[in-house]
Amino acid sequence: MNNFTFYSPTKFVFGQGEEKNAGSYVKQFGGSRVLIHYGGGSAVRSGLLDRVKASLDKEAISYVELGGVKPNPRSGLVYEGIELCKKEKVDFILAVGGGSVIDSAKAIGIGTLYDGDFWDFYSDKAVVERTLPIGTVLTIAAAGSEGSDGSVITLEEGMFKRACGSDLIRPKFSILNPELTETLPAYQTACGAVDIMAHVFERYFTNTKDVEITDRLCEAVLLTMTSEVPKVIANPEDYQARANIMWAGMIAHNDICGAGREQDWASHSLEHELSALYDCAHGAGLAVICPAWQEYVMDHNVARFAQIAVRVWGCQMDFAHPQITAKAGINSLREFWKSIGMPGNFADLDAREEDIPKLLDTLQIDGSTLGNFVKLNRDDCEAIYRIACR
Ligand code: NAP
Ligand code: FE
Repeated sequence: MNNFTFYSPTKFVFGQGEEKNAGSYVKQFGGSRVLIHYGGGSAVRSGLLDRVKASLDKEAISYVELGGVKPNPRSGLVYEGIELCKKEKVDFILAVGGGSVIDSAKAIGIGTLYDGDFWDFYSDKAVVERTLPIGTVLTIAAAGSEGSDGSVITLEEGMFKRACGSDLIRPKFSILNPELTETLPAYQTACGAVDIMAHVFERYFTNTKDVEITDRLCEAVLLTMTSEVPKVIANPEDYQARANIMWAGMIAHNDICGAGREQDWASHSLEHELSALYDCAHGAGLAVICPAWQEYVMDHNVARFAQIAVRVWGCQMDFAHPQITAKAGINSLREFWKSIGMPGNFADLDAREEDIPKLLDTLQIDGSTLGNFVKLNRDDCEAIYRIACR
């Protein structure tokens, strides 16, 4: 195990009805003038936004609103949010929605207290030094942004989808009411499940040795997903299954599963180009990329792939031919994602093989490499995209 620092300062408030206390948590963390940030309408239709506003009214906290965050959130609305926060002297941002809304809120938070262009933080030109505090009311178990140090935004000029990471942007509090996820279409539930599992894979496939505790935590999250996701696909109102998935989504990405180990993240980078170009759901893109990546790098550490195949996918260990076990695990992953309605290749995603050169160009990989488990050059990335076409 490597040396590490683990920092997860977010207060998590979990359970039915907790959104009614949003106002008191905003107050607890010093907010007095709030930006309520939300998405394309699900939070309005469900009445969630009204309940959140009522909780702010109860604490006599004033607010302004900015809705309209799209999945794969864009820079345009971030700039708008920054202007609004400056004009209205906002001192706290409350994100009501999924990863896209939370990531947009994080970008607005750092951009408001920065004199330059917020994109500097997403293009490695500046390091986050301060931010407006953020709170979240989560409506989909997926990105894990409710507990993570990350934010992913698409720059409309060029459609570059890039991430910014800083412990300073971890939310002050996150309200996780599993009931709020019951209105999700099955497809979005499944996309969220894929993202949660992908966050585990990015950590599981490591070159760090002797990481039994984090291996076991990762496996617990994956096993929870394989048992609980089919339940909510069959019955969207299965509160207990929703609850387990929601907490799994947080654990998958606040980095408790990644402490003390080298992590990969190539699959996420390869996927970001897909969701930037085709505006597909991040989870749907990952469902196509992750198995392709796993097949391509499997020979680098067959024993690790055989381990996950046995421990998570229940495959029989073939000691004479461990690569058969390893491959069976990857096939089980493909089968599982297919069974919950996820795409299996480029065509299912309406992505085109002839766009691969374009994907590689926006990946900007020339002269550098992607990932850590295996360091991928441009040719490797191209090979993975080609496997994903099959
Ligand atoms: P999302 O993009 O926030 O939401 C997906 C869709 O689900 C939206 O159309 C949204 O509609 C709808 N929705 C959300 N909650 C709903 C509910 N309760 N009922 C009905 N519909 C609902 O999904 P996400 O997967 O959480 O976020 C994806 C983004 O996060 C991607 O850009 C991805 O790259 C990023 N990401 C970030 C991190 C990180 O650490 N920051 C990690 C991984 C991925 P409305 O707009 O109408 O609400
Ligand atoms: Fe993700």
